[in-house]
Amino acid sequence: MKDDNMSSPHFPIPKTLPVLVVFDGVLLPGSTIRIPITSVKNINLVHSRLTFSNRLASTIIAIVTKEPDKKGQVNKLHSIGTAGVVVQITGTSLPRPRYTLLVTGLCRVRIDSVVQEHPYPVALVSQLNSPTTQVQDYAQLVGLMGEFKEAAQKLIDLLDIPGSEGQKLKNLVSRVPEEQLADLVASLVRATLPERLQILDAVDVPTRVKITLPLLLRHIQKLKDVGEANVDEDNKREGVRVLQRGGRSLPPSHPIPMEKGQNEMAELEARLKAANMPSEANKVAMKEFGRLKRMNPLVPEYPMLRNYLDLLADLPWDITAPETCNITRARQHLDTDHYGLEKVKRRVLEYLAVRQLRGDLKGPILCFVGPPGVGKTSVARSIGTTLGRPYHRISLGGVSDQHDIRGHRRTYIGAMPGRVIQALRTVKVKNPVLLLDEIDKLGSGMQGDPGAALLEVLDPAQNSSFTDTYVNLPFDLSQVLFVATANSLSTIPTPLLDRMEIIPVPGYTQEEKVMIGHLHLLPKQLQEHGLTPEILSMSTETIAIIIGEYTREAGVRTLERKIGAVCRAVAVQVAEALSSQDDVEAASEIKGAADISGKGKDGVETTSEEQITAKQQQQGSVRHERIPYESDDDDEDENDEDEEEEETGHNPSAAATVNLSNFSLSSLRQHLELPIVVEKKMIQDVLGPPIFLSGLAGRVSVPGVAVGLAWTPVGGEVMVVEATCTPGDSGLTLTGQLGSVMKESAKIALSWVRQHAPMLDLEPDFMRDEEIHLHFPAGAISKDGPSAGVTILTVLVSLLSNRCVRPDVAMTGEITLNGVVLPVGGIKEKLLAAHRAGLSTVILPSANKKDLADVPDSVMNEVEVVLVDSVEQVLQAAFDGTFPDMSSEASRTKTLSSKL
Ligand code: ADP
Repeated sequence: MKDDNMSSPHFPIPKTLPVLVVFDGVLLPGSTIRIPITSVKNINLVHSRLTFSNRLASTIIAIVTKEPDKKGQVNKLHSIGTAGVVVQITGTSLPRPRYTLLVTGLCRVRIDSVVQEHPYPVALVSQLNSPTTQVQDYAQLVGLMGEFKEAAQKLIDLLDIPGSEGQKLKNLVSRVPEEQLADLVASLVRATLPERLQILDAVDVPTRVKITLPLLLRHIQKLKDVGEANVDEDNKREGVRVLQRGGRSLPPSHPIPMEKGQNEMAELEARLKAANMPSEANKVAMKEFGRLKRMNPLVPEYPMLRNYLDLLADLPWDITAPETCNITRARQHLDTDHYGLEKVKRRVLEYLAVRQLRGDLKGPILCFVGPPGVGKTSVARSIGTTLGRPYHRISLGGVSDQHDIRGHRRTYIGAMPGRVIQALRTVKVKNPVLLLDEIDKLGSGMQGDPGAALLEVLDPAQNSSFTDTYVNLPFDLSQVLFVATANSLSTIPTPLLDRMEIIPVPGYTQEEKVMIGHLHLLPKQLQEHGLTPEILSMSTETIAIIIGEYTREAGVRTLERKIGAVCRAVAVQVAEALSSQDDVEAASEIKGAADISGKGKDGVETTSEEQITAKQQQQGSVRHERIPYESDDDDEDENDEDEEEEETGHNPSAAATVNLSNFSLSSLRQHLELPIVVEKKMIQDVLGPPIFLSGLAGRVSVPGVAVGLAWTPVGGEVMVVEATCTPGDSGLTLTGQLGSVMKESAKIALSWVRQHAPMLDLEPDFMRDEEIHLHFPAGAISKDGPSAGVTILTVLVSLLSNRCVRPDVAMTGEITLNGVVLPVGGIKEKLLAAHRAGLSTVILPSANKKDLADVPDSVMNEVEVVLVDSVEQVLQAAFDGTFPDMSSEASRTKTLSSKL
């Protein structure tokens, strides 16, 4: 008996609703399910109603099941559906749309008519509220409800829902209004599609309870039965249908392959057992696995739990890579892979030797610190190869959330384990070499301090039971060999620094770069472009030209890229030669030869060659002129290591890469003069005009300009400081994004100049009507530090006394008000930079003499170092000819400084 007028109060649902058609599964009011979106109309609905609209009303849609007919064919829309609210959309629209909706059912609706079919169906609907139960039915309903609630509680017990969730559900069942109870319980119960549709059709409460109760009892019975596994597989099967087939499932009458679900579960169980976890972890894994087996796959927790168990099964709990450490071989390995770097190699070998003797890993963590492109990552990779262990790089640049290291709590949507656990899952052994790249670029944001989380990972006292928040079980990291890299020490959190042994990897000298280019980078690039030394020859002089005119870097990454560009150009030449008419014959000849020699298999390689040739023919002939592979601003991007590595290292331009392995050189010689010798002219054709030709000489030839030396995380830099004097009264103006320390240095320098104006032959009130503007070029980069003191002072003296600074001199040093020059840092890098820039004299504080031991002889032989204690000595060295009154002043300052 129904009485719509007496229906209980409900929120009104719009009369017209967009219809999301599902082919399997039924959404019941009060429950939440995930619906994968695959059909075109459903995607259209998501696009126009959900992704581009921010109105709450547009999130209400009708979920209607397409009913199977008697023969099992999908036939027509069911007449009753559910109005639901979309609470979450996950997925992407690129490369092709894939979404999953999380929808909560609100109430039943009857589909009155479909008013629109395209781009997605829209229907006129009437809301179906449960009618109030008539008095005569009421007594019967009360009895039925008692039994229903009791059975529901029993089912929840049997489902073994973990933690407090089970209790919460039981409380909910005892409190929820009667009209919602049956729907709530029905969503937990295993049922076929027609049975679920029947529950949906039951608008009045007694009917709904009567339909659901037998299903509930049946589920309980099945769970109790010994054949529990079958029940689980039914559950699973249903979940697989709804969750994985995107709603396009076989109709229920069609036999669903039981084995698939069973196999998957059995396979997961076997993998969990084979993982050989410690007993505590194993216990948890098995308990969770049991829960997964019993869980209704429709509940949102199912895929989460499944992913979790997959991770547990994948983690290398008990898999160790056999170590093959042999110090002699390690030395050979490091030597063959890297030129120079003697100190670094020695330290790495010491470290490996100690490890081998002690037989454990408890030792400091090595941290290579130096500018980009000096081989830090490459040395770390060599350690992995030497030890015969898998190597994995964890890039920490920009990580500012501790959850990135420690993992997210599993209850969050989209929760993931931390990077360390992810790395272990990838390498599949528990003793890999893990490189913590750019540890100095860790950030610290709202989401906790990732540095602190890393401490836990690196601390030998704690890491044998590292507990990732996602995994929530201790995992032994004590056998992982961690190696770190950084560009600068200043930004590494101190507690982390304490755990690490710092190995500085300074920049290379010009000669070292030439040798690295010749012995390592050129052979590597030739190989990556399918070339050989017989085809391309590049002398050390040519490499030196590339270094001098096209690179300004402490490392060799840009050099590698430039050599790569030349190789590509030659590859094009070769491919072009082969694409000429005669080459068609030559290619077939060569192909034949390759087949005979047994090297080439025509299938793959031959086809790819032809494709390349064809492609180039299509593109028209490629001239041996300037080839736009290189962007001119490459050099500015020194810090962008990852991209660069991919660019240079592993992704040579396909169009310009020729696989010459199958070609015989003799046939190639008929078309090209081999080897193609790369000389200056060709470099200019390929790389464009020199980027760094302009020497400093021209810029330093006016008063008020001097060359300073600065240390940056990417190596030493020469810095031309300029000053001008104009009428005005604003004193000293500084530009070039200077920090407060640098501004103070400028004030100190000016005070010293004022104080010593007579000695410098200046008017005592030289700034009465004039103002001075000091500028540090590369204004976009912020600079700070005291080491520019001597340079600023020299610039001021040069400007005010109208004398030019010697163009071949660079300087660095902090100054005090009394004109004493104090030591500064980064001497080696600064000297290398001065040498790179072709400067022949460097003025340094005397106290930095000890640092000169680190500077390579090749640099010391070519650069004259002037050690100074006072500003007067700086000026003596910086200007040709001296200041007449300076010697007496210099001796006075010296006495003063010794008294201090
Ligand atoms: P970093 O990690 O210091 O930024 P990489 O290790 O990525 O630098 O080195 C960049 C490139 O330079 C790599 O191809 C590397 O092999 C090469 N390289 C750097 N230093 C040397 C060296 N001393 N000998 C040989 N190759 C080197």
